[in-house]
Amino acid sequence: MVFDPDLAPGGYAYFFVLGGWGTLGLALLDGYGKLEAQFEKAVVRFQKIEPFTIESSRPGYSYMNFFLHGSSERGSRLFAGEAGGFQDYLFGLGIRYALVSGHLAARSLIEKVPFDELWRKRLLRGMRSSLGARLLYESLGRHGLRQFVSQAKRRDFREFLHSWARPSWWRLALRPIAERVFGKADSCGHKIPCTWCRPREGRAGKPEPLPRDFVARYLEE
Ligand SMILES: Cc1cc2nc3c(=O)[nH]c(=O)nc-3n(C[C@H](O)[C@H](O)[C@H](O)COP(=O)(O)OP(=O)(O)OC[C@H]3O[C@@H](n4cnc5c(N)ncnc54)[C@H](O)[C@@H]3O)c2cc1C
Repeated sequence: MVFDPDLAPGGYAYFFVLGGWGTLGLALLDGYGKLEAQFEKAVVRFQKIEPFTIESSRPGYSYMNFFLHGSSERGSRLFAGEAGGFQDYLFGLGIRYALVSGHLAARSLIEKVPFDELWRKRLLRGMRSSLGARLLYESLGRHGLRQFVSQAKRRDFREFLHSWARPSWWRLALRPIAERVFGKADSCGHKIPCTWCRPREGRAGKPEPLPRDFVARYLEE
């Protein structure tokens, strides 16, 4: 993984290989207009670390969906996973949130317990805390990233990431500040009433347009 604000503003680049198959990805929080050029730079960066050749590449695009809301129920419909904004906002990790919220939604239907009650108890603190963690991650810049990587080196990386995903009082305390610093989108397309989501380019104001063919290509995939 490469954490470099010039290569992946607010995000990271990653290259995972298993049995000759690889995924080389770039996660950005800003600068979508330069997505493709930045991706090429990421390929070059990884090739410098360990030379490799690419055969039968399959490009793909996606985006993450994190938002805070008061209720994940709309009429008789329950919104689980990213559709309900459930995600860890620090690094955009949502698989566990999707599984847990899906399980809670099923329990709500079977046991006739309000879904909102279940997810608030189990997931809300973690989501709020991840907002505080992201504020810290983005504010500390290269110095913070260096500290982060050097701490990661000394521990099992999975356990280390898990410790960041767990709610903590100080990350929760940072959450209101994070909401103020990041700004709040004036409008969004979320299907349930959203109490907070971030404007696309990361600051309040006019969203940065996506590359012209981004949506078309994403839909093709
Ligand atoms: C590049 C990338 C890397 C990631 N890496 C990680 C990671 O390492 N770890 C992690 O925890 N998270 C990761 N995430 C985030 C994680 O993948 C998502 O948070 C998680 O998959 C969300 O699950 P979901 O079930 O809510 O939504 P999805 O996984 O998006 O599933 C929704 C499904 O519904 C289908 N669908 C949509 N609309 C309709 C419709 N109208 N009718 C029928 N079907 C429909 C979609 O095609 C899709 O298959 C990553 C995300 C991306 C984009």
